[in-house]
Amino acid sequence: MASALIALGGNVGNVRSRFHSAIDAVCRQAKATLTARSSDYETPPWGGVEQPSFVNACIAIETALAPHALLAVLQDIERTFGRDRARETRWGPRTLDLDLIAYDDVVLDTPELTLPHPRLFERAFVLVPLAEIAPERVIAGRSRREALGRVSSDGIVRLPDLD
Ligand code: ATP
Ligand code: CA
Ligand code: CA
Repeated sequence: MASALIALGGNVGNVRSRFHSAIDAVCRQAKATLTARSSDYETPPWGGVEQPSFVNACIAIETALAPHALLAVLQDIERTFGRDRARETRWGPRTLDLDLIAYDDVVLDTPELTLPHPRLFERAFVLVPLAEIAPERVIAGRSRREALGRVSSDGIVRLPDLD
């Protein structure tokens, strides 16, 4: 079994309830066990497109799927929840984004999949939820804690748990 960290994001419709269903779908379709789930966070948009704020979270799973097979499952679930890459702008509004942040300590650079996620360390909206589930994690030789010290967490707000 491998341990994978997945970042969830979205800013269209009821994102928090979609996260709940999407996490169930990941566990089912990747035959995975959920080992940790962060809180949900409201986060400012990233990447320069003016748009509503996002909800972000991170999960950790144990899965027997290989990295590319896991990515295919994540993309299938994105589509199930209304993601349509053909109609969107880069870093623009979306119903659901599922990024594979890390897969054990695998390092990979293929056209479809880069591991660890190449923009992970620039993004407080990933590093903050990761603090809850993997505070001491070192990814590609960099500590999550050190990386978070170098980016702005302004405007990132932890949302109260849903009932
Ligand atoms: P970003 O990658 O900057 O977070 P994004 O999530 O908006 O941007 P997408 O349109 O969701 O980008 O994905 C673009 C492509 O990135 C996908 O088709 C996928 O093949 C590729 N990709 C490469 N590495 C990863 C990864 N670690 N996790 C998810 N997708 C990846
Ligand atoms: Ca993304
Ligand atoms: Ca993505």
